[in-house]
Amino acid sequence: MTDHSTVAGTGDPDRPFRDRHIGPDQAESAVMLAAIGQPSLDALVAASLPESIRERAPLDLPPALSEAEVAVRLRTLAEQNQPLTAMIGLGYHGTVTPPVIRRNVLEDPAWYTAYTPYQPEISQGRLEALINFQTAVADLTGLATAGASLLDEGTAVAEAITLARRTNRSGSVVILDADTLPQTIAVVRTRAEAAGLDVVVAEADLAAAIAAHDPFAVVVQTPGASGRLADTEELRALADAAHAAGAQVIAACDLLALTLITPPGEWGADIAVGSSQRFGVPLFYGGPHAGFMAVRSGLERQLPGRLVGLSKDTAGTSAYRLALQTREQHIRREKATSNICTAQVLLAVVAGMYAVYHGPDGLRSIAGTVHRNAAALADDLGRAGFEVVHRSFFDTVLVRVPGHAARVVEAARRHGVHLRLVDHDQVGISVGEDADTGALRAVRTAFGLDNAPGQTGPDRLAGSHRTSDFLTHPVFHSSHSETGMLRYLRALSDRDFALDRGMIPLGSCTMKLNATAEMEPISLPGFANLHPFAPVADAQGYATMINELETWLAEITGYAKVSVQPNAGSQGELAGLLTIRAYHDARGDHDRRVCLIPSSAHGTNAASAAMAGMKVVVVGATTDGSVDLNDLRTKIDKHRDQLAAIMVTYPSTHGVFEEGIAELCALVHDAGGQVYVDGANLNALLGLARPGRFGADVSHLNLHKTFCIPHGGGGPGVGPIGVGAHLVPYLPTHPLSEVGGDHGIGPISAAPYGSAGILPISYAYIAMMGADGLTSATQHALLAANYVAARLHDHYPVLYTGRGGLVAHECIIDLRPLTKASKITVDDVAKRLIDYGFHAPTMSFPVAGTLMVEPTESEDLAELDRFCQAMIDIRAEIARVEAGEWPADDNPLVNAPHTQGAVIDDEWTHPYSRKTAAFPAGLHGGPIGGGGRDKYWPPVGRIDGGYGDRNLVCSCPPPEAYED
Ligand SMILES: *Cc1c(COP(=O)(O)O)cnc(C)c1O
Repeated sequence: MTDHSTVAGTGDPDRPFRDRHIGPDQAESAVMLAAIGQPSLDALVAASLPESIRERAPLDLPPALSEAEVAVRLRTLAEQNQPLTAMIGLGYHGTVTPPVIRRNVLEDPAWYTAYTPYQPEISQGRLEALINFQTAVADLTGLATAGASLLDEGTAVAEAITLARRTNRSGSVVILDADTLPQTIAVVRTRAEAAGLDVVVAEADLAAAIAAHDPFAVVVQTPGASGRLADTEELRALADAAHAAGAQVIAACDLLALTLITPPGEWGADIAVGSSQRFGVPLFYGGPHAGFMAVRSGLERQLPGRLVGLSKDTAGTSAYRLALQTREQHIRREKATSNICTAQVLLAVVAGMYAVYHGPDGLRSIAGTVHRNAAALADDLGRAGFEVVHRSFFDTVLVRVPGHAARVVEAARRHGVHLRLVDHDQVGISVGEDADTGALRAVRTAFGLDNAPGQTGPDRLAGSHRTSDFLTHPVFHSSHSETGMLRYLRALSDRDFALDRGMIPLGSCTMKLNATAEMEPISLPGFANLHPFAPVADAQGYATMINELETWLAEITGYAKVSVQPNAGSQGELAGLLTIRAYHDARGDHDRRVCLIPSSAHGTNAASAAMAGMKVVVVGATTDGSVDLNDLRTKIDKHRDQLAAIMVTYPSTHGVFEEGIAELCALVHDAGGQVYVDGANLNALLGLARPGRFGADVSHLNLHKTFCIPHGGGGPGVGPIGVGAHLVPYLPTHPLSEVGGDHGIGPISAAPYGSAGILPISYAYIAMMGADGLTSATQHALLAANYVAARLHDHYPVLYTGRGGLVAHECIIDLRPLTKASKITVDDVAKRLIDYGFHAPTMSFPVAGTLMVEPTESEDLAELDRFCQAMIDIRAEIARVEAGEWPADDNPLVNAPHTQGAVIDDEWTHPYSRKTAAFPAGLHGGPIGGGGRDKYWPPVGRIDGGYGDRNLVCSCPPPEAYED
């Protein structure tokens, strides 16, 4: 990958990084303070944050570095890693990221700064990229419908098991093939235990295990962790036996292998899962990578995570949007199909584009080379007298070297290759796309072979050859030249509105700056190309970086220890709740299984509690949006002996600092419960208060919100947990690594450090901001939210405020009275904002019929004013509807957003002008993203989501679909 050699130096010492990160300068801040009637930032904090939780001592963090200094620091750390050629396998494989995809997706802010595509009209580019991914996965697995990405392979298998349990009433255990990836087995055990599911690992023969138990699901890894490739007839017989026993069949599989071997959908699997990492996504020391899941027809409404589908806009044009959202946690809460919210969109886009760029022939050719190289090694090793354990394999050769495995692996390492040390007697060699002749020669040398490869024999796929076509859609045939690919990527990203165009004022999601200096280091080869199971001695740079980052996060949150393993906030929640569960169990409190959750909580909270095997009991809110302490007392009394925990978000999802937080913590502790503070809103607290010190026992943080990891269009994320000293023993562990507590809950992610490859982003942010910079960012986030609330106050009611009429870092604008009077809905306002050049705020969360705005510290005063002015202008437009000047069913709000096609059309029958439609903020001048020449044009008009749910299409539509 690119080595960004940075010029040493400190940069402009008068303009530290914090002044680049924080939008308003001193003069602008003064204007904003005056507008909210506060004399200073300190006064604002004193007026809004309860004194009881305020910390006075500055955070103990190293002095702030400049951009140039952090580049040097991270380059030094990257160089302390020795990636070598990764031939360890176990679900992570060397791959070649096509440079055109690396630079124009992974390293392109148009892709990485986008938000989750909840506003589909301004997300058509990434939605198309995701439907390409879904199509590739569905085609390659031979199943009907694939989802838009899961967090990794281990959790994808666990999600598949949950799906099978939900849809299959018979059977009592899940049987796992012994040749399943060891980390997958461990992730499944962690979750199954909490969910009360029995797991059987079939030590000898899967068929025997099926006969001996009463399974509801059977998991087959093919090819296996050992490299073994079962032939199609064997798999078909297995699937038949499983089905006859009433079980669903889950295949954990490899997308590259599937270009050559029979897909699971053709031998009877109901569900296929795996990782798409080897489709061009760097190893990243374990993540982020997109897990995938595909299901046979009939199961699509049970899929976990997001699913992209086709629908239509008001003009009848085909358009994409998220399908079947009623399955998801934000709507179904504890009854959702999964707790997944942030997934792995950016990586799914990379994998999908890899398939687009190579096409079916290119993929077959890459797979063929990988297989031939593996087969040639096996042939030569066999001829030299080594025992090659499996006759059939795709890319992984298992070799017996009794007593000498460690010596061989070490010899290979000296020659630049990481092999898998299976045990004393066996070595695994996994060939990836990146294994060149040098690497192959190094393997031969390690085994003491002379350097002349012999005659190659027949392929080793006997009985498994794929005969069916795949990737037949034109999209997989039309961008094989780099010019074509570049233009396709540009065309798609141009359809989308991301942070590189304008503000994304999303409540609860903290869409702040993702600075280039933070992003660059993730492409350094030392970070990008390291295998997660490389020897610790070759991962010293990561060890140091992760250790420092965990220490800093512990300092920032006031907890005893932090684990970065969870791959998203939702996964942090599950991990944190499982540590609580383990703590109670260790004290003999096996009945403590009730989790109190306020009615306003994020949907993931309830879904995670359900996955942790807890019973959700809802606590009501008072009229000001706080947790109702009276109701809390009642619920505690009722469930005193079963109380496991309360999950509260602080500041609340209503955007206020609740006064009662200390009392809330005390009430729960007195009843023997633990306090989980959802730390997704840490952007309002950082440097001012620490959950670990004001009474909480555990929190997750979202590094993809507060700590500058970009949203990626819906992932990747990192959701570390911080815990108090009494919970440290239960922190997540890993079967192939030393991480976690002595009595850990097991792994919550497939890789020991989760999405390690993006940790340099948060590391760089903290290192460059320093303690003062972080505190200043928090103060400016509070200032910006209060400024927006004050400016909009006379035009829209602001729903909840705390002390002194102030909000925290976000504010909720209540549209319900206006909707009643004018029939204009939050949806109309959200879509109209697109015409003004904005991404909509969060809609109808946590209160239906409202908009939640979180401006963040990174937006300058001009952009904040542009947003406020747009909202004020929209209010005036609503007034004209209320006054009857514009009909309720034909006005710029209900017709929004306006496409170029709509305003250019010869016919224009609306009671407002084309200029009002498309350039509401004026034709000339205008800031970036506003009126005039920088206008963002939505590629489609208002999308009818329901139509797509009734007519579900979740793979690339035929080209005719686009013709009017
Ligand atoms: C974003 C968010 C979550 C979930 O985090 P993910 O990373 O999307 O899983 C949980 N709680 C709150 C309050 C959030 O804002």
